[in-house]
Amino acid sequence: MTPKKFAYFAPASLKEAIQLLRVNEDAKVLAGGQSLIALMKLRLAAPAALVDITKTGDLLSYIREGKGHLEVGALTTHDTLERSKIINKKFPILSDAASKIGDQQIRNRGTIGGSCCHADPAADLPTALTALEPEFVVRGVKGKRVIPQSKFFVDTFTTSIAKDEILTEIQIPHTPPKSGSAYIKHSRREGDFAIVGVGAVVTVGPKKVCRDVRVSLGAVASTPIRAKSAERHLKGKTLDEGNIAEAAERANEEADPPSDMHGSRQYRLDMIKVFARRALNLALSRAR
Ligand SMILES: Cc1cc2nc3c(=O)[nH]c(=O)nc-3n(C[C@H](O)[C@H](O)[C@H](O)COP(=O)(O)OP(=O)(O)OC[C@H]3O[C@@H](n4cnc5c(N)ncnc54)[C@H](O)[C@@H]3O)c2cc1C
Repeated sequence: MTPKKFAYFAPASLKEAIQLLRVNEDAKVLAGGQSLIALMKLRLAAPAALVDITKTGDLLSYIREGKGHLEVGALTTHDTLERSKIINKKFPILSDAASKIGDQQIRNRGTIGGSCCHADPAADLPTALTALEPEFVVRGVKGKRVIPQSKFFVDTFTTSIAKDEILTEIQIPHTPPKSGSAYIKHSRREGDFAIVGVGAVVTVGPKKVCRDVRVSLGAVASTPIRAKSAERHLKGKTLDEGNIAEAAERANEEADPPSDMHGSRQYRLDMIKVFARRALNLALSRAR
C-alpha cells in the first residue's frame, strides 16, 4: 500500500519545525521514519503533513556528559547507541536494548527519540530507559520543558508530549559506583518485537548487599512498568542466588500482559520471572 497524500517540510531549524507543527493541522514529526512511515504505508496513520527534523541545523544526535547525567540527543540512532563506548561502559542496558532492535537497517535509521515518542509498550529502549529513571527534554512554542520518566509514557502509543512539541534530549542520571545494568529481550526470532523485555539496574554495597535495584518490564502492560515488588524484596538483602530467584518470582506482580499470537497472558507472566532472574544476574555480574 502507499501512504495517503501528505505535505513534507524539511525545516532548517528546530524553531521553524515547532512553528510548522503549530500551524499545520495534523502534522507529525518525522525522525528515522521506521515506525511512522510503516504505519502510513499501512494507512494506520495518515498525517496531513510531516515535519522532518533530521535536516535542521540543530544537531540532535550526540552522547555527551552533562551535570550528573549523560545527555543523549533525540536523533541518536539505535546503531550509534549500540556502538557507543560511553554507553557500553556506563549504561550497557542501553546497548543491550539497542542491539536487539529489528535489523541493521532499522538500527541505522531508527532513533532513541522516535522510539520513545512512538511509545510502543513492546519497544526495547523505552523499557530499558524505564530502569534508568531519565528525564525527557522537550521544546515547544512556550520554550523548554523537562518531563520525568514516570510522567512521559502515558498509554499505548501515547506520551505526555504536546502535538507542537519536539523531544530533543534524554538525560540519564549516572548510577553510583558498583552499579551494573542489563536488558534481556525474549522474542521468538532474533529481531522480533519482545514477548517480554526486562531491564535491571543493581547497585552493590559492602558484603554484596543490594543498595539499590530497579527492574523494568516491557510488553506486559500499556506502558513500560517497574517491578516494584521484586525491587522491594531485594533492596537491603544479600545479592545471592536465593534472594535474586525470590525477587524474580515477584517480578510479575504489577504486570497485566495481553494474550496474542506471540504468547498467552500466562506465558508472559511466567517468562517475566525467568527473564527477570537472568537480567538481575547479568546486571550483578557487571557491577563494578
Ligand atoms: C520491521 C521493523 C522491526 C522493528 N523491530 C523493533 C524491535 O524489535 N524493537 C523496537 O524497540 N523497535 C522496533 N522497531 C521500531 C524502531 O525501533 C523505530 O525506529 C522506532 O520505533 C521509531 O524511531 P524513528 O526514529 O524511526 O521514529 P519515526 O518513525 O520517525 O517516528 C515515530 C513516532 O514518534 C514521533 N517522533 C519521532 N521523533 C520525535 C521527536 N524527536 N519529538 C517528537 N515526536 C517524535 C513521530 O511523529 C512518530 O509519531 C521496528 C521497526 C520496524 C519497521
